[in-house]
Amino acid sequence: MTTQAALLWELQTLDLNLVKRRRRLKEIAALLGDHQQITQKRESLNAAETALRPVQTRSRDLDLEIKGLVQKAKTASDLLYSGKVRNPKELEDLQEEIAGLQKRQKQLEDSLIEVYLDIEERQTGIKSLQADLEALLQTEGTEHQKLHREAQKLQEELQDLEQTRQTAVQKIDPTALKKYDSMWVAKKGTPVSRLEGESCKLCGVEQTTIIVQKVHRGQELIFCHVCGRILS
Ligand SMILES: [Zn+2]
Repeated sequence: MTTQAALLWELQTLDLNLVKRRRRLKEIAALLGDHQQITQKRESLNAAETALRPVQTRSRDLDLEIKGLVQKAKTASDLLYSGKVRNPKELEDLQEEIAGLQKRQKQLEDSLIEVYLDIEERQTGIKSLQADLEALLQTEGTEHQKLHREAQKLQEELQDLEQTRQTAVQKIDPTALKKYDSMWVAKKGTPVSRLEGESCKLCGVEQTTIIVQKVHRGQELIFCHVCGRILS
């Protein structure tokens, strides 16, 4: 005959299996919802792209300004060599104007080179961030697939265990079951211990001969005299 304590021990094994799977399902749900790394990478990428825009605008402005200067210098130069201007003072002014325009052009071209270098560096940074993000998304995709599969398997196992539990509970005396339930939290999920030789398996303490005999007889619930667990 299976004793109540033995039935409770079976129930406890079932319950611990249920707890383990429910806990893992919670972990998986948290892992599936955690996109922190990807969010951070996306934010860095957005920031880098936003910061690039004004630099690109500056490059276009400089380019236009240089073209304007080149055009102005050309007009002045054409006039200088057209033979239309004869007055020495006017000719001198024109030459000065051309020299001034060329000097300014040189300055702007130097600035433009720096802006180009800046853009290049920023674009390299953006490409590297994009590659990082791509890699993260791929890893997450694979990881998430694995987690989804694991969760599905756990759900199926949970259903089976719950059914087995329903059947197991029916065989247990209601008073014994009540005792088990009431001890579940306080004993952190192990209200039942086994007798190993003459000792309680969970606290390791040797039991009195009377306790051992009573456990073997199995007519009532017997408790470990140290940890208080039901002995089976
Ligand atoms: Zn004990």
